[in-house]
Amino acid sequence: QTVFVPRELEAGEDRIAASPDTAKRLFGLGFAVVVEKGAGAGSRIPDAEFVKAGATIGKAGDAGKADIVLKVRRPAAAELKAYKKGAVVLATMDPYGNEAAVEAMAKAGISALAMEFMPRITRAQSMDVLSSQANLAGYQAVIDAAAEYDRALPMMMTAAGTVPAAKVFVMGAGVAGLQAIATARRLGAVVTATDVRAAAGEQVASLGAKFIMTDALKDASGEGGYARELTDSEKKAQAELVAEHIAKQDIVITTALIPGRPAPRLVSGEMVKSMRPGSVIIDLAVERGGNVEGAKAGEIVTTANDVKIVGHLNVPGRVAASASLLYAKNLFAFLETMIDKDNKTLSLDPDEELVKATLLTHDGVVVHPNFAGDKP
Ligand code: NAD
Repeated sequence: QTVFVPRELEAGEDRIAASPDTAKRLFGLGFAVVVEKGAGAGSRIPDAEFVKAGATIGKAGDAGKADIVLKVRRPAAAELKAYKKGAVVLATMDPYGNEAAVEAMAKAGISALAMEFMPRITRAQSMDVLSSQANLAGYQAVIDAAAEYDRALPMMMTAAGTVPAAKVFVMGAGVAGLQAIATARRLGAVVTATDVRAAAGEQVASLGAKFIMTDALKDASGEGGYARELTDSEKKAQAELVAEHIAKQDIVITTALIPGRPAPRLVSGEMVKSMRPGSVIIDLAVERGGNVEGAKAGEIVTTANDVKIVGHLNVPGRVAASASLLYAKNLFAFLETMIDKDNKTLSLDPDEELVKATLLTHDGVVVHPNFAGDKP
């Protein structure tokens, strides 16, 4: 069987869904691996590295020969046209709000596996693309903040005087938030953080940051370790606490998400106004509606009181070489569970737990319970 790894078409998408390491492993398992020319360039992987791993370099049209396609983003209509019926395609499919695109994948006859639906169970930790990419996004958020901030982050005591440490406030202490806390600490900032899940408090403290939470809010853990949406009175209590705290911060990094809902609004325009000139806000939730009033997707907004609100898109893609390495590993770990090592083929069992959770389309129809029956 043939595995095809295309160059991603989306503008600014520098990641690739395979690495020389995963290509070598697939080759070792008996698969022919074809990588599109230049597909690794954005992640600083030259074609020659893939050739060394046993792959061959091909062109976009080679997708038509593939039994398995490894991608970062959901295939576009033009790509779908080229695929074989029955091809197994792994990608982050971003299906919510894109029901027509899901239907198109069904029509194309591919088996589309949405990596972001991987259950967060121990066995599937190595396949968890949300975690691997959020971790890097949390890191990059601090790097971006430091680059936009005109002052130093660590305290510096010099003969010419003392530079105070920057105060960094991280809102949402999930995977991205915890990495942001750790990174900001390494740069010498004084870090505080908040979350609505009480369990996050201990994790924040273990990273050497102070956990900020109102007494009015005991715990808003929802299903599966995710947060639930707050009630109006809880929102009010949280806003009061944040309003007082945020005015004293130099850098704010927001990461708060609620599954299946728009991102919660955590920072109001008033709060932004209360911050000092030169302060920086990084909104990592901007693609899901944003945590910060005034944040614009893909832009850096400077407010009247000289606060920068940074809304970079695809933040993991800003550390593409590292992100690709982990993403490729996530995909390979999942593929490996579906490969029959004796006859060197991949066989998809729609009833297997991980396949069932991630399979969007199969045999010409939309099969995922969250989308089946939807008419775009
Ligand atoms: P996420 O991306 O869905 O959300 C980011 C954070 O925002 C979460 O910590 C959430 O509690 C917080 N948040 C939501 N609403 C908020 C609000 N109004 N104010 C402040 N914060 C708010 O979360 P995630 O990073 O994917 O992690 C979610 C959970 O899953 C965590 O408990 C994490 O430890 C757990 N997890 C488990 C596994 C595993 O077992 N394999 C892997 C990764 C994450």
